[in-house]
Amino acid sequence: MTQLQINKMFSAISMKEGLRPVKVTPFYERKLNEEVAALGNYLGPLHRLAFPTQERVSLRAPNEVKDFVDDRSNARGCTNKTSIVRKYADRALFLTTSDCFGHCQYCFRTDVLGENASIDEKGGQDAELEQLVEYLRSQPEVTEVILSGGDPLILPASRLDAMIERIRSVPSVKSIRIHTRAIVYEPKAFTAEKIDILAKYNLRVIFHIVHPYEICEEVAEKIAELQRRKIRLYNQFPLLRNTNDHQLVLHRLLERLDVMGVRNLSIFIPDPINFSAAFRVRLSRVWHIADQLNLFSPSWINSTRFVLDSPFGKVRREQYSETNSETDVVVFLREGCSIPFPDFPEHLDVTGDLELMLWRENRRGVHRSAPGED
Ligand code: SF4
Repeated sequence: MTQLQINKMFSAISMKEGLRPVKVTPFYERKLNEEVAALGNYLGPLHRLAFPTQERVSLRAPNEVKDFVDDRSNARGCTNKTSIVRKYADRALFLTTSDCFGHCQYCFRTDVLGENASIDEKGGQDAELEQLVEYLRSQPEVTEVILSGGDPLILPASRLDAMIERIRSVPSVKSIRIHTRAIVYEPKAFTAEKIDILAKYNLRVIFHIVHPYEICEEVAEKIAELQRRKIRLYNQFPLLRNTNDHQLVLHRLLERLDVMGVRNLSIFIPDPINFSAAFRVRLSRVWHIADQLNLFSPSWINSTRFVLDSPFGKVRREQYSETNSETDVVVFLREGCSIPFPDFPEHLDVTGDLELMLWRENRRGVHRSAPGED
């Protein structure tokens, strides 16, 4: 099947299933063009992040669901939109917008975002903010607000400023953080005005950089600019099959982040949602990759956690309880709650091609001397 045919097929599926359509910024597209020109095909890691593959449109795994983390069941507030989500006693998530600079093929919130987007068209964002503020005032144990989306950086500076100002007016809120992929899709979105806002309110910024090749000179310069303003920078990203599912790719990304002063918090195991099979990795292989990374890298690289998200919050390997060998469903225990997680079938879990995932090193003839390569 040609890429054009795959795109058409995906377009039909996305309309029917409510997936986010393909959306790429010209900035990111330049990287894709470079990758395609170098490889002579559309199989490179960044292309898989932005455009559908044949696997994406045709491979399905058992027990896929629309929304695994079930934001809706943790939604607060009284509108029919999922904008305030609370899973932890001390934190609340605010979905500020359903817009993003680009659409990631692996997006795990595609279902809620699609639903929110149709509600957003009717307006009402100010009312949602007031509802959040009212909710926070009634819940003083919530000390942190997480601004996510969509991508909060897509909001106009004046709206971002007003939003943060309102949230900060709640005395019990001590900390606010922003989650964004703007740094890789559109670094210029970090305008001087928005950087001033981030600095003024001492916000934490959590990037979602997925692959080392997403960090070019322009991205690195923007990160350096944010550093100079003393903005606290972090990262988190999903482990994605055939994109970064090898300890060496993770090593490269985590090392680069460390050099830039960005602390990686988590590596996420993708949710078993509809049409996610192209990206999913079997848990036993996730643990193997984590072990290899731990064995063959210093702590400033491997001191990150591998987690999966669930309707009850994040779950770690230590919380593993048992696997039902008949159904291939893994059970984790978290604070007395039993969390079932359908594992990705072993026969579908084809390991990512390292030559493709780190294609630039092959071009440069770099000898991969990092231990743990297998
Ligand atoms: S930026 Fe985030 S919310 Fe937007 S499509 Fe990508 S993963 Fe989904």
